[in-house]
Amino acid sequence: MKIQISPEANRIIRILQAHGFEAYVVGGCVRNAVLGLTPHDWDICTNARPEQLREVFGGFETCDFGLKHGTLAVMVGGTPFEVTTYRVDGVYADNRHPESVSFTDDLSLDLSRRDFTVNAMAYNDEEGLKDPFGGAEDIRSNILRCVGVPDNRFNEDALRILRGLRFAAVYGFTVEKETAEAIHRNRFLLNNIAAERIFTELKGIICGKYAASVLEDFRDVLAAVIPELEETFDFPQRTKHHQYDVWRHILRSVEAIEPLPELRMTMLLHDIGKPRACTVDENGCNHFKGHQKISAELAQKILRRLRCPNAFSRTVLLLTEWHDIRFDGSEKQVKLVLRELGETHIRQLFAVQRADIAAQSCYLRDEKLAAVDRAERMTEELLSQNQCFSLKQLAVNGRDLQSVGIPAGKELGAVLNCLLDAVTDGRTPNEKNALLEEARRIFDKNK
Ligand code: ATP
Ligand code: MG
Repeated sequence: MKIQISPEANRIIRILQAHGFEAYVVGGCVRNAVLGLTPHDWDICTNARPEQLREVFGGFETCDFGLKHGTLAVMVGGTPFEVTTYRVDGVYADNRHPESVSFTDDLSLDLSRRDFTVNAMAYNDEEGLKDPFGGAEDIRSNILRCVGVPDNRFNEDALRILRGLRFAAVYGFTVEKETAEAIHRNRFLLNNIAAERIFTELKGIICGKYAASVLEDFRDVLAAVIPELEETFDFPQRTKHHQYDVWRHILRSVEAIEPLPELRMTMLLHDIGKPRACTVDENGCNHFKGHQKISAELAQKILRRLRCPNAFSRTVLLLTEWHDIRFDGSEKQVKLVLRELGETHIRQLFAVQRADIAAQSCYLRDEKLAAVDRAERMTEELLSQNQCFSLKQLAVNGRDLQSVGIPAGKELGAVLNCLLDAVTDGRTPNEKNALLEEARRIFDKNK
């Protein structure tokens, strides 16, 4: 098998070989090349020891942060390439980190520490594919399989559980039976994994093309990470608007939206509060009044626990809280939502609503979609007219108000908000003099 290696990676391999060392591209890049995809980065492994690496690449710009684990990053053409000494991992103490790593001269030992057969292949032009665990065959059969005994591998490092689901969700691999069973069995080891790592893998999983089927098959694993989701599993929705239970509606909505982390995460969490909000009317129909607020509260707890960055979490919480707003065709309502959400988030809200509708029943579907389309058109129209809907766009600011004698502080903020109300309602034009006059009037009235 011939793989097209990037010229820069090839150059590094050639240099190492010229110094008498072995060198191969290895891991994810080989997997992707065999899959027929373009690798996004090229990792290189070699029998050269760290101190030898430093010598060989003395003339290059390098970064040696990882050198004690055997990794030297070598800059070629402005891009860093990680060159790593063949390694075997020592005993794993905490389901994540080996207590020690040691270096070896044996490529197959290095490949044997890797997580999945598809990730345990190396390649160079002279020797072709080095594939002691049958990764290429597994790729041909579309199978994700642990290298070695699955239970042991997940015990060593539980993050592999989520890595495995990510590879399945992104590339469409079927998880081999024993590997799958071990993933289910060992899911609670994920409790020992740092929240940031879990969050990163989770984003990768939900953005995968095959996310919905992986999340369905491994929902118990997801619940080990987000226990709140378990309440939605098989929770019925007896209403004309739905044809799936809450969990399956969530899955359909996840796959109905663009694979952007914030949007996919919103869909994953948007209805998580439904079971807690559920009531039954005299006809036996379910209602979920206020579920969006409960969902947003739960989402906040979950995202905080996962140490999600603030901006990400703010987006998800806003979209969750507003996902169920029914646009009624009035400009006033669109202005209000624009004011609360701002330009970027309101556009995302339309995407969220369309995905939500796509995952509901056919009942009133066309009408629901038409309402979203109309609200979107109105929004774009308002935005193109540069209409005022936020404090930022108001023709006066706090300093202007102070210049007409309104003292800084809470009152000033309240006056600004009243001015924004007056402008969005069309009572006052968004002009400096008119606004200052109005500001004085409001201030005097409240005094
Ligand atoms: P990606 O497309 O996400 O970069 P990748 O397979 O390249 O996928 P990396 O995290 O870049 O993943 O790791 C590079 C290689 O290192 C993997 O292909 C695998 O061989 C090995 N590896 C990474 N993480 C682990 C792990 N937790 N356990 C065992 N091997 C691992
Ligand atoms: Mg990689």
